[in-house]
Amino acid sequence: MPNFLKDNEDLLYYLDRGLDWDPLVRATERDSTEYPTTADAVDVYREVASLVGGFVGDEMAPRAAAIDREGLSLVDGEVVFPEILERLFVQIRGLDLHGLCVPRELGGMNGPLLLYFVTAELMARADVSVMSHHSFHGGVAMALLVFSMREGTTKLRDGKVVETRFREAIEEIVRGDAWGAMDITEPHAGSDMAELRTRAVQDDEGRWFVTGQKIFITSGHGKYHLVIARTEDRAAGGDDAFVGLAGLSMFLVKAYEDRPDGTRHRFATVDRLEEKLGHHGSATCSVTFDRTPAELIGKRGEGFSYMLTLMNNARLGVGFECIGLCEAAYRAALDYARERPTMGKTIDRHEMIADYLDEMRTDIQGLRALAMHGAYHEELAQKLGLSGDANAETEKRVRRHKRKARRVTPLLKYLAAEKAVEMARRSLQIHGGNGYTKDYPAERLLRDALVMPIYEGTSQIQALMAMKDRLSGILKDPRAFVGRMAQARWRAISARDPLERRVARLGLVSLGVQQHLMMRTAGDKFRSLQGKSIAEWPDRFLKNWDPKRDFAFAMLHAERLTRILADELTTEILLEQSTRHPERREVLERYLERAEPRCRHLADVITTTGDRLLEQLSVVDEAAHAAE
Ligand SMILES: Cc1cc2nc3c(=O)[nH]c(=O)nc-3n(C[C@H](O)[C@H](O)[C@H](O)COP(=O)(O)OP(=O)(O)OC[C@H]3O[C@@H](n4cnc5c(N)ncnc54)[C@H](O)[C@@H]3O)c2cc1C
Repeated sequence: MPNFLKDNEDLLYYLDRGLDWDPLVRATERDSTEYPTTADAVDVYREVASLVGGFVGDEMAPRAAAIDREGLSLVDGEVVFPEILERLFVQIRGLDLHGLCVPRELGGMNGPLLLYFVTAELMARADVSVMSHHSFHGGVAMALLVFSMREGTTKLRDGKVVETRFREAIEEIVRGDAWGAMDITEPHAGSDMAELRTRAVQDDEGRWFVTGQKIFITSGHGKYHLVIARTEDRAAGGDDAFVGLAGLSMFLVKAYEDRPDGTRHRFATVDRLEEKLGHHGSATCSVTFDRTPAELIGKRGEGFSYMLTLMNNARLGVGFECIGLCEAAYRAALDYARERPTMGKTIDRHEMIADYLDEMRTDIQGLRALAMHGAYHEELAQKLGLSGDANAETEKRVRRHKRKARRVTPLLKYLAAEKAVEMARRSLQIHGGNGYTKDYPAERLLRDALVMPIYEGTSQIQALMAMKDRLSGILKDPRAFVGRMAQARWRAISARDPLERRVARLGLVSLGVQQHLMMRTAGDKFRSLQGKSIAEWPDRFLKNWDPKRDFAFAMLHAERLTRILADELTTEILLEQSTRHPERREVLERYLERAEPRCRHLADVITTTGDRLLEQLSVVDEAAHAAE
């Protein structure tokens, strides 16, 4: 098999020149003298990525079908992995990949998160389920470190960790001796986290204990669980989701301890291993906690906010994971299409198939631009924010990076997951009847892809987040929105570069849709003032926005808006790349050719449909209220 890094020109672009590595290397290395220059650091990052690219191409990809076939089992409450997977993890451990981003003083390699994301994409191209399993090593170790820095229990000297309360867990994970897991979902609460019921209580001596059941937990067989549990009751009668979220706290829970005599004592039990459609190399477990000892992270009630930090990284990670899967689907389809003749030529030469392949290639490049941009800004926001450099300039930079990362994350999670499914399906179609058999990887890729729009926040939840962020931003600062519109109009006619004009015109389509959604939202709100006294109007209009009622029209179209926002941002990023590196103009041109008609169509749907369905829903809601 080829080296999965070296055969990927688009990915190499980011390691070679597509990113401004200097701030990232400085924020990662701080006062260390490990690398004399940024170029030296990036050389090492490239070597690591190349090592992983070779390993996954030679060792992981050829075993993906066998791992899928053999799967995992639950024996006496412990997850048992097939030997083929155990051996792969011994190799991963040998490469020191579990501690890729963990500081050197804790046994890691101190690489940037961005390098981890690059390796995640490479691994996912080989086997997305193994990648997902692997990510719960380093991911949880890094989360523990970031959490302890945020709560102030990690002490740094000269940029190095000298003390951290989670040292034992982090070092164990880095050595590859333990796994981590992130436990949020429960039987009654997936997307709706305000409904979580797992409880944590404190005894008279201040010790915490967690009781409840978590389901669908990736690597739930692992030792260290980050568990979200309820510590505060909901206000009586309140149905505001945020009241429910404010009662959640974050805990570190040790699920078991291995005794010196070789036996294992479990504090939490693995009750079930899900039999899934795909992802057969990754354990998805149901875990029960019964007065299991737990350590509170941060303060009580801060669980949701800690979880968001974890999820930001996890969602970016899923973005890269999806790109890896898309890459696998595209390349499998391309290889097959180049070999398979029908009607006098190979099928890659038939117009429709050529169009599919061209679109897949273009979409992957767009997704990667989005992912790299998001990961870059998220990492800088986190590292600068935790650096302890409390000056106005740093704070300004943190805010800027945070804003940029926040804009990308739901768009990337949404689009990459949807594209993973779309491309896996296309890949299967291009394989014809062979695609439907287990002789080719296409059917496995489709089964593996189908979970992407579900875990780490479903596509619909991502779309709601993206819509809410965008429209509430306009509500907060309408003048800035008007300014953006004027600027886009000006650029659309006066920019010297024709590609810049096209990007501005696409931006105008997006802004027009946002304006339409705001007008509709405000219009509905105005109508709700009918029959109320004028004295009540200011309060009723400017305050008390009820997302469920007031944003109904925008919620209906949130997914369409998200697709437009993703295209808008992707073309902005590709334009910025094109101005620095003219060879990227060709990528932007290809992307625009597809994005322009797509966005116009979506804008048409948003501005012309929805009223009939909303009318129906409001009749049903009113009937339900009347019956209460
Ligand atoms: C393989 C796998 C691994 C997983 N790993 C983990 C893990 O490690 N840790 C963990 O905590 N969880 C994990 N999960 C759980 C996963 O995060 C949840 O399944 C997901 O959040 C959705 O929750 P749900 O299944 O309860 O669906 P629901 O929340 O019931 O949603 C069902 C459908 O309704 C839609 N929907 C819900 N609310 C709205 C709304 N307001 N507007 C529009 N549509 C809406 C959803 O988008 C979805 O399409 C995993 C799941 C799987 C399948």
